[in-house]
Amino acid sequence: MPVAQAAANRFAAISDLTVIENASLAAYTRFGIGGPAALLCDTDSETAFIAALHLAETLALPRVVIGGGTNLVVSDAGFDSLVLRFTGRRISLDGKLLRVGAGAVLQDVVDHSIGLGLKGLQTMTGIPGFLGAAIYGNAGAYGHSIQEIITEVRFTNGAQIDVFTNKQCRFQYRESIFKSRKEWIILSATLRFEPGDSGELRRTADEIRAIRDAKYPPSMRCAGSIFKNLLVADLPAGVRAEIPSKLIREGKVPSAWFLEQVGGKGIRRGNIQVADYHANLIYNDGGGTAADLVAVIQELKQRVQNRFGFELEEEVQYVGFDYAVTPE
Ligand SMILES: Cc1cc2nc3c(=O)[nH]c(=O)nc-3n(C[C@H](O)[C@H](O)[C@H](O)COP(=O)(O)OP(=O)(O)OC[C@H]3O[C@@H](n4cnc5c(N)ncnc54)[C@H](O)[C@@H]3O)c2cc1C
Repeated sequence: MPVAQAAANRFAAISDLTVIENASLAAYTRFGIGGPAALLCDTDSETAFIAALHLAETLALPRVVIGGGTNLVVSDAGFDSLVLRFTGRRISLDGKLLRVGAGAVLQDVVDHSIGLGLKGLQTMTGIPGFLGAAIYGNAGAYGHSIQEIITEVRFTNGAQIDVFTNKQCRFQYRESIFKSRKEWIILSATLRFEPGDSGELRRTADEIRAIRDAKYPPSMRCAGSIFKNLLVADLPAGVRAEIPSKLIREGKVPSAWFLEQVGGKGIRRGNIQVADYHANLIYNDGGGTAADLVAVIQELKQRVQNRFGFELEEEVQYVGFDYAVTPE
């Protein structure tokens, strides 16, 4: 639904809201792929952000909220309605708790907590994006995920603000309640830490950072892992029997293993490339299109389906596709 000029003017009238018509979404994604948003509203003011969400509700405008764009596949056609981005990044300390705006860059929160000698986020160093999306997708690495330190999440549907406890967030591996209730937008969260030694935490974080930077060079246009890893217990017995036991950690097996078995490494289509060293990593080599990216993703899924009889599930989130492509 294109945004009428009168509606665009109403967003433009909200104080502290940056409003861009026909904004290229490629510029807002790490893949560097995606057509325009009819209207993009960007703000670090929580008040302005809520006002924009409220107006979107009032006008019944389809809308999508993005963060740092590091886990997004945006269609070449873009999104013919409203895209909202919240960059409110306030961090305040309350004992061993940090209250953090959803628009804070996760790495800034990691660095801030380490600087304060707070232990809990150090293994998440190098995960790009904002805190809000990290909660939405229960981001994690090195055997830990954000759910372990969340005590409360504040969110809104544009009309009212609510607070959920950790339990109410229904965290699971790369899942939270916010993935199934996309109208609930995270505004801020409270994070609980253990006391730690800044120097030691920094060393752990730096070691992880070096490994991650080798795997995902900072300039690489990608989304990290395309597919979620698999819970071994959910796999058919015949498939389980084929998995080398040394690959299973915390009950999960990397989807990269299945992708390797079907020759996924190094596949290329246009300027979209599956890394030759990691079958679950796809990058845009420059000038890549969403059409080619989605075709490569579908090709990988099909190969795994044909060989192993189950469907891989994307970790990346789609914007601007019809529901035939967009997983819910
Ligand atoms: C190089 C690289 C390495 C990565 N490594 C990891 C890793 O180790 N572990 C891991 O878990 N992820 C990893 N990722 C994926 C990505 O960093 C995470 O998914 C991250 O949390 C996405 O944050 P973002 O702000 O960029 O979100 P976006 O990509 O902008 O959005 C992701 C989703 O979050 C939703 N969303 C955004 N903000 C909000 C909000 N305030 N409220 C509700 N929903 C919201 C969006 O609608 C969208 O569906 C990696 C990505 C890259 C590029």
